[in-house]
Amino acid sequence: MKIAIVGGGISGISIAFLLQNFKKESGVDIEISLFEKNIRWGGSINTSYENGFTIEGGPNGFLDSKPYTLDLLASAGLNGNLLPSNDLARKRYIMRGGVLHRLPENPPAFLKSSLLSFSGKMRILSEFFVRKSELEDETVADFARRRLGEEALDYLIGPMVSGIFAGDPEKMSLRSSFPVIRNLELEYGGLFKGMFKKKGKKSGPSGPGGVLTSYKDGLTKMILDLIDKLDQVKKDLNVDVFSLKKDGQKFILETSAGEHLFDKVIFTIPSYKLSSIIKSYDEDIARVLSLINYPPVFVVGFVFKDDDVADTLDGFGYLIPHKENRKILGSLYDSSIFPERSREGYKMVRVIMGGDRNRWIADKSEEELVSMAYNDIKETLKIKSAPYTYESFKWNMAIPQYYLGHHKIVEAVEKFCETNRGIFVGGNILYGVGINDCTRRSYEIVDMIKSNL
Ligand SMILES: Cc1cc2nc3c(=O)[nH]c(=O)nc-3n(C[C@H](O)[C@H](O)[C@H](O)COP(=O)(O)OP(=O)(O)OC[C@H]3O[C@@H](n4cnc5c(N)ncnc54)[C@H](O)[C@@H]3O)c2cc1C
Repeated sequence: MKIAIVGGGISGISIAFLLQNFKKESGVDIEISLFEKNIRWGGSINTSYENGFTIEGGPNGFLDSKPYTLDLLASAGLNGNLLPSNDLARKRYIMRGGVLHRLPENPPAFLKSSLLSFSGKMRILSEFFVRKSELEDETVADFARRRLGEEALDYLIGPMVSGIFAGDPEKMSLRSSFPVIRNLELEYGGLFKGMFKKKGKKSGPSGPGGVLTSYKDGLTKMILDLIDKLDQVKKDLNVDVFSLKKDGQKFILETSAGEHLFDKVIFTIPSYKLSSIIKSYDEDIARVLSLINYPPVFVVGFVFKDDDVADTLDGFGYLIPHKENRKILGSLYDSSIFPERSREGYKMVRVIMGGDRNRWIADKSEEELVSMAYNDIKETLKIKSAPYTYESFKWNMAIPQYYLGHHKIVEAVEKFCETNRGIFVGGNILYGVGINDCTRRSYEIVDMIKSNL
């Protein structure tokens, strides 16, 4: 049996690895091909190595609260390279009135917190008495307003949405973007009620629970180590897949390296790419896929000499609520989160810009954005002198946004795959954008393939 995997990011690579494992264990005759159009593996995972500094241009890591990525690395024998974030870096900050306030982590800290007003806190506490809603879907903003109040939306929920999706809570679907939070209301009647009942358990893929975990020498090293393990996979780097056609029970993939026949095709590429590949095969599903929106995101990793930054960078970093009207979404204190990524005598800060509420960054040059990012953090972190070095990454179509009604897109894709047996859709376009969501989906797809043999 011939199986094609389109897309060489963490989703495609993890599927290739799991299929190869299955092939080795079961002895089933499978020929696995992995297609990546770029000249490098990893997709959104892109680490830069600059003078002994490890700078992540995409994700920084994944939470250890879900097992999928950890299991994958363990079965590849790579879990010895896991890099947990520094415990001291668990303090997170939110900006209000230009000042950084610590994000409260427990009830006493919440009551004492300077982040929220007295009335804002009382409104949050009254969540306990808000009646349950049975709405089919709701925007994250409407949900937050209804259950927690406007201030919580502005200073807690909005920054969380921008930290995970670079998204706009007024557009995003609660059901698809934060299913764990929605389920607290559906199952237990509210967030506090749910949290009390689930006390002690860690939260799900879209929740904040768990320890941020990464890989020694950066996530690109993790990708390359996984690629090295694919000794029974045909790896087609720099091969673009253009279109999909049907040939009896089989599928033809038209690629920049010619046409190939497969029994099964697994897509792990952005929805706009899948939409264009699948258009001549099924125009309706192509139109549905084209509805998923991707805003631009800009990441710049600054390295400063220690003495040039007066702030101790004591924590994880900070997020900036939209109301603060700043040019950046927030910044991460990378040398505090993962001290191994820096060098003695230096501090590293990664600044994130753009997202769905700041699409203007698309028209700015990288130089302009770097300068805006620097000017924005200069005062907040008491920076005295220009960076020692920096690396920047512009993602024109960064992260898929799950807008209100996203579940209808998911249902349409599921129906399409049911009626077109042999086609699978993985990646981050349907069920979650975190690395763990991607690897969970990869396990699901490989399980579906195994059970249909
Ligand atoms: C800036 C940024 C920060 C992030 N931060 C975090 C974080 O801290 N933690 C976290 O868990 N997640 C984070 N994410 C999300 C996470 O990184 C992604 O959701 C995940 O890496 C997606 O992996 P993927 O393999 O599904 O898709 P991708 O990484 O998008 O890979 C898809 C691959 O398909 C290839 N491709 C596209 N079209 C074709 C074609 N026609 N033929 C062949 N190949 C094709 C692409 O070149 C690409 O390599 C972040 C994302 C971004 C952009």
